[in-house]
Amino acid sequence: MSSKKRSSGSKNRTFRTKAPQGLGVRPAKSLGQNFLIDEDVIQAIVEGSGVTDKSLVIEIGPGTGALTLPLAERAGRLIAVELDERMIQGLRVKTYSLGNVEIIHDDILKVDLRGLIDRNLEEYGLEDVRIVGNLPYYITTPIIMKLLEADTGASSITAMMQREVGDRIAAEPGTKLAGAITYSVHYYSTVTKIVDVGRECFYPSPKVDSVVLRMDILNKAPVEVRDEELFFRCIKAGFMQRRKTLLNSLMSLGDHDKQSIADALDCAGIEHERRAESLSMEEFARLADSLKEA
Ligand code: SAM
Repeated sequence: MSSKKRSSGSKNRTFRTKAPQGLGVRPAKSLGQNFLIDEDVIQAIVEGSGVTDKSLVIEIGPGTGALTLPLAERAGRLIAVELDERMIQGLRVKTYSLGNVEIIHDDILKVDLRGLIDRNLEEYGLEDVRIVGNLPYYITTPIIMKLLEADTGASSITAMMQREVGDRIAAEPGTKLAGAITYSVHYYSTVTKIVDVGRECFYPSPKVDSVVLRMDILNKAPVEVRDEELFFRCIKAGFMQRRKTLLNSLMSLGDHDKQSIADALDCAGIEHERRAESLSMEEFARLADSLKEA
């Protein structure tokens, strides 16, 4: 995992950073608006995203366009989805002369990404899809899960997120830091850290530090499971009460009694007292397959 340190770990410190020139609007906390103002970080994201002139880029939450312009200069085409209407006109004006940018005023969680991508790939003869965004932190997990589950055909997702969330996502399954999201992300992708980002790199400066991760989408999942939905339900149930033993936490699945859970654990070769965070991806796959039989 490569990383470039930007911040010396500024816990509990607040920074008064300067608004980017011509901002013109009051940042909306409710929309997670912390605008990137550090040129080195912008450069690291653009380079780390793997965007080329053959790429269709989908940008999530362009805001004032800090990433939009440098990404569009490298890309074949860029489509940016922004929820805040106040940003739309400014973004269209800023990107007009580039001629390869479309700004969509919508909620990224509601957009039909697959349809959007298919239409653009065909029309513009592009070769790959790269999703990039300095994410609104209040919906980091739903966005990442939508992007991974929507089968968009993207090669990678490069996303800025709160550092603690990034640490969980980048953790290896079966380690202390792992959570349900760890298994989901590692089922669909390999994760690389692009850069640590201190809170002083944003306006306004948030109360947390950040990290940029790149998730390269796998062609084939690292484990085979008979029932994907049950596999993910097991992981969720296991982590919902992560201090409980698996024998107890899996009761929240609701459709298996204690005896059939015990039998499934035995069949998968997993001791009843183990907790979710100690299971590898393969063990969760074996467990879900055994439960399918139970
Ligand atoms: N990309 C800009 C930057 O790096 O300076 C802005 C990043 S800011 C952290 C997140 C952006 O996502 C904001 O512009 C916000 O309005 C937008 N946003 C929030 N919720 C959204 C949603 N559901 N769909 C699309 N954009 C959203």
